[in-house]
Amino acid sequence: MRLSKSLFVTLREEPADAEIPSHKLLLRAGYIRRIGSGLYAYLPLMWRVLTKVRQIVKAEMDATGAQECLLPQLQPAELWQQSGRWDTYKAEGIMFAFTDRKNREVALGPTHEEVITAVARDLIKSHHQLPQHLYQIQSKFRDEIRPRFGLMRGREFIMKDGYSFHADAESLKETYDDMHDAYCKMLTRCGLKFRAVDADSGAIGGSGSQEFMVLASAGEDDVMFTADGKYAANVEKAVSLAPEAVASIFTSYEVKDTPNTNSINKLVKFLECDPTAIVKNILQQAVYDNGKTVLVLISIRSDREVNQVKLTNELGKLAPNYGAKTVIALEVPDGVAIAKWAAKPLPLGYIGPDLSDEYIQASPNTHPHFLRIVDATAASLTNFVTGTNEAEKHVVGANWDTNFPLPSVNVDVQKALVGDRAIHDPTQVLETARGIEVGHIFQLGTKYSAAMGATFTNEQGEEQPLVMGCYGVGVSRLAQAAVEQSYDKDGIIWPVAIAPYHAIICVPNISDAQQMEVAERLYTELNQLGVETILDDRDERAGVKFKDADLIGIPFRIVTGRSLKDGKVEVVQRATKQSQDIAVGDVGKTIKQWIEAEMGVGS
Ligand code: ATP
Ligand code: MG
Repeated sequence: MRLSKSLFVTLREEPADAEIPSHKLLLRAGYIRRIGSGLYAYLPLMWRVLTKVRQIVKAEMDATGAQECLLPQLQPAELWQQSGRWDTYKAEGIMFAFTDRKNREVALGPTHEEVITAVARDLIKSHHQLPQHLYQIQSKFRDEIRPRFGLMRGREFIMKDGYSFHADAESLKETYDDMHDAYCKMLTRCGLKFRAVDADSGAIGGSGSQEFMVLASAGEDDVMFTADGKYAANVEKAVSLAPEAVASIFTSYEVKDTPNTNSINKLVKFLECDPTAIVKNILQQAVYDNGKTVLVLISIRSDREVNQVKLTNELGKLAPNYGAKTVIALEVPDGVAIAKWAAKPLPLGYIGPDLSDEYIQASPNTHPHFLRIVDATAASLTNFVTGTNEAEKHVVGANWDTNFPLPSVNVDVQKALVGDRAIHDPTQVLETARGIEVGHIFQLGTKYSAAMGATFTNEQGEEQPLVMGCYGVGVSRLAQAAVEQSYDKDGIIWPVAIAPYHAIICVPNISDAQQMEVAERLYTELNQLGVETILDDRDERAGVKFKDADLIGIPFRIVTGRSLKDGKVEVVQRATKQSQDIAVGDVGKTIKQWIEAEMGVGS
């Protein structure tokens, strides 16, 4: 690429609408242009980066035996109706859905489980054909609530999505493990620092989901991990041991007047007890997909908080009890929301685990009983303090079974906190970091195949739903995440493997014939050697060229300047700013060696 003939425009000023460094830099350095909310033009430099990421992703996928294909982005509603996702995806507004000229409903694919399951349903008949793994790399469309941070959360973005089909869970696990390894290789090759973390797999449950997080302070996800490297999880999913409870100072059951103690802080002060001796009872309201509202009362140790994702998953498991499939909303109700179902004023601040169902007004849309859930932190307490359902009164020295029935739903819904002890080794404590989710691998099981009738005949001749896995990489998000992890005050510092070019030749003075002659010679020679090189032959001051070279982050800058008199050029490494003079004849092979060393070729 000769800059004098290229559409190459860099900006001196900070773009006003960009918040995080990588977004600002990609705009300033002329990699992307915003076209609309969450929509970006990938300009030539960006497209080269994306192409390199795609190549690395493709190579690692192909190495596992996965087969590349390309599925339609325009998808018929029927498939989504068969899987049962059409209504929710439309209602949540994540899917761009519309009608075509024949009045048929269609959508732009936010993901491709339905399409690939339809293909598998038609083509896979027997266990002899299994396992199979198909993947594609192309644009996805999602009408995100908050498109932001440039390519990090776009409304049109590039994803690698793969789907595997198996006869059984063991075969799925093998492919899942292969994908874990392939993802680690891809991200390592892209030059990223990352962590694979246990992820929430929603109502589908199971242990089978991991996210790949690029560590960066601008990340939208919180990751919890232990220093021994043996545990890492998204905070949504993280499990831990809460600090030990302090032995209760109360030894006998008693109702106490506790004036003006409608918060845990006030109660702790008044009773002079430890917060770990108190069971707090939190009221939430869940709405299931059949429109039923269920009031949920969660008893948890008062120093701990409820993890809404874990709670939603537990409520999802209980959906059949309410004739429903999934939870569509979960919230702590405010006064207005409570007024809609409460038969009488609630003893807020003094609620006990045995709050009477009489508080619920009879209504066809509201389940008449509280769903009582106890978190493990509260279930294990003895002689605890809790509410009486009467203002200004608490009980102390209470015990489950003796004073309150222990709720039958006894689960872990506590939020893991920094400093908690790890379950795998209580001497390890949880630490936290911010991460950008660039990949997600998932053991789906038979959710889609069962819903869509994608079956095969097993060795015993029985017809069974295909067992599925799915594996995504956000290609465009990954490319920007690399910038977020690697820049300085002057601009981007691309890892060599995904830099748009390896080298840039800056000619300080294009009217100097010798400078131009050497630059042209090197430009041809380097490109022939496979050192992808830009020639900055613009009629600009040297300072402008150096600034732009730093801004766009090309790993090696070659300057045909003063040292030419000794038959040398100056070579500057972008990451370290180290500079050295190298004989013109040695530049090509030297830079080629550096590139190979950076990319681990031959190691
Ligand atoms: P997020 O929680 O960030 O919204 P997701 O769980 O919706 O991600 P998946 O459906 O698993 O994401 O998609 C696979 C990958 O695609 C993600 O790991 C991420 O890297 C990328 N991705 C998802 N949504 C976007 C988006 N709006 N813009 C860019 N990349 C995205
Ligand atoms: Mg999303």
